[in-house]
Amino acid sequence: APALSVRDLRKTYDNRVEALKGVSLDVVPGDFFALLGPNGAGKSTLIGIVSSLVNLSAGSVSIFGVDLARHRDAAMRLIGLVPQELNFNMFEKPLDILVNYAGFYGVPRELALQRAEVELKRAHLWEKANMMSRTLSGGMKRRLMIARAMMTQPRLLILDEPTAGVDIEIRRGMWKTLKEINAAGTTIILTTHYLEEAESLCRNLAIIDRGRIVEQGPMKALLAKL
Ligand code: ADP
Ligand code: ADP
Repeated sequence: APALSVRDLRKTYDNRVEALKGVSLDVVPGDFFALLGPNGAGKSTLIGIVSSLVNLSAGSVSIFGVDLARHRDAAMRLIGLVPQELNFNMFEKPLDILVNYAGFYGVPRELALQRAEVELKRAHLWEKANMMSRTLSGGMKRRLMIARAMMTQPRLLILDEPTAGVDIEIRRGMWKTLKEINAAGTTIILTTHYLEEAESLCRNLAIIDRGRIVEQGPMKALLAKL
């Protein structure tokens, strides 16, 4: 089954804005997939529906073959979500943030500690494991968000504009961590409005504009057309 399958997805908000007007896409397992589009295109709405934060108006979503409407909890267990805003406690240490997060999802403490070491190393944060998070640099804080989402070992990692508003050095550090996560087998989907970001990370992409997919395919084929 595809890592993500979306069929004729529609979303009309209460104010009658049609954010999605019939979106279909498939993401293959192992892919690094970008959803590229300008502000207001519908990217956050799509991510919100896939991660169960937003209700869909029509259509269907399945995650590794698990239908979201019928088996929401099972589908959610396959997903890790990296929200745009930093939402961890700045007065906790990275190691505690990761272990407590895993604990919330039922991961035993010993296992959580092992995973935290792997994830902090992959995010180039191991040396900072016991620093107050408030003192971390902007890039470190962003990579901590990624490390935390990986603590439940999701098969699909979803990031909504993970690098919006950060400078190129910080972006490069995040890209490195994301590439390692993908190379280790986790499927990644990210939304972005930077073509450069999609280009340096992704194998496949879809371009969304005003609620519709306007292009979809391998990054290389699309670049040749631009
Ligand atoms: P993007 O993430 O690509 O910037 P969004 O999914 O945030 O796009 O927005 C798509 C459209 O839906 C925009 O016109 C936006 O104003 C509208 N929209 C987004 N969220 C809401 C909401 N909660 N209520 C009403 N309209 C919304
Ligand atoms: P940032 O500069 O992103 O706020 P750091 O202070 O950790 O965060 O970055 C210092 C250096 O660490 C960077 O110049 C880069 O060479 C290296 N670095 C950043 N992210 C990674 C990563 N994911 N893997 C390996 N090295 C990294």
